[in-house]
Amino acid sequence: MLKRYLLAPGPTPVPPEALLAMAMPMIHHRAPDFIPILDSAREGLKWLYQTKNDVLILSCSGTGGMVASVTNFFNKDDKVLVINGGKFGERWLKIAKAYGLNPIELKVNWGYSVKPDDVADALKKDSAIKGVFIQATETSTAVNHDIEVIGKIVKNHDAIFVVDAISSLVAHDLKTDDWSVDIMVGGSQKGLMLPPGLAFVSVSEKAWKMAEISKLPHYYFNLKVERQKQSENQTNFTSPVTLIIGLNECIKILEKEGLQNVFDRHTRLANATRAAARALGLGLYAKENPSNAVTAIEAPEGVDGQKIYKVLRETYGVTCAGGQDAAKGKIFRIAHLGYADRFDIITAVSAIEMTLRKLGAPVELGKGVAACEELLF
Ligand SMILES: *Cc1c(COP(=O)(O)O)cnc(C)c1O
Repeated sequence: MLKRYLLAPGPTPVPPEALLAMAMPMIHHRAPDFIPILDSAREGLKWLYQTKNDVLILSCSGTGGMVASVTNFFNKDDKVLVINGGKFGERWLKIAKAYGLNPIELKVNWGYSVKPDDVADALKKDSAIKGVFIQATETSTAVNHDIEVIGKIVKNHDAIFVVDAISSLVAHDLKTDDWSVDIMVGGSQKGLMLPPGLAFVSVSEKAWKMAEISKLPHYYFNLKVERQKQSENQTNFTSPVTLIIGLNECIKILEKEGLQNVFDRHTRLANATRAAARALGLGLYAKENPSNAVTAIEAPEGVDGQKIYKVLRETYGVTCAGGQDAAKGKIFRIAHLGYADRFDIITAVSAIEMTLRKLGAPVELGKGVAACEELLF
């Protein structure tokens, strides 16, 4: 028998309370018993997002929320600034191009955060820029961008600030309103501890004004219609009833812990994971602003990162993530996101030690685990 442990940056483990709630018999999405459920989910999301604005629930994976954030607010040939520091920054670029926008790429070396001054300069250089697209956590490199500081820069410009916080929500304190984030995209299968299938999109008044003049074609993701319907606790199409029931359970769990405690737990787990890597003599791929959602650990000299991923999974039952594109073979990524506690990390670090030993890398068994325990007891 091989017991499985899921420590990937999405999907993440689902708490038993949510699993049980989602196992209840189906209810109808237009029947009165669904109304308080959607109402409470909408309120819960506002609490998590720290916003007074609408947080719309869409039934799609996170990328659908990213697409909706482009097609509802822009026009063909609109200039937008895209911060690209990894796989997901690249995704903003591809979506913008797919819908005929004119993206200006602000490239950031993998492993680094964008310099807020570079964003300010780009905006100063071109007053026609209509939007600034970024990730809160660039999951492929495990690096955070400084949303608070960049939010202050974009605020004084006509452009709207569009943040992909899909992997960052719950792991990080993201103050949507205070930081002037116009659109923030979330997803169900990361910090929110749910199965894949929901995206969340918050929309500011500044962004709704841009929606008024947007003419890009869209049908399924019509946020104006969703706003109207969801204010009546309905969704435009059939609601993802099961996932919204689960969402309420997960928000209840987070509320019970308290938002600050949730963030502190993620900070603690991330610190312990990084300390374990250092204790094992392994480098961190994030050279600055490491995320509290996921840690990217460099494979030691002469060991293929993909092999580490494979042995962790196949021999020890620990599913993490490998590296993507430029980082493929160089790193493996351990998430400490959502339904994660100290023994998840200790288990993962222990499995990493045994994997490295198995692959012939010099490693002192227990050294990483001890570093974790020092920070987690
Ligand atoms: C997971 C993730 C996404 C969404 O991916 P989907 O597979 O569409 O859910 C988008 N951005 C970031 C930063 C992510 O981590």
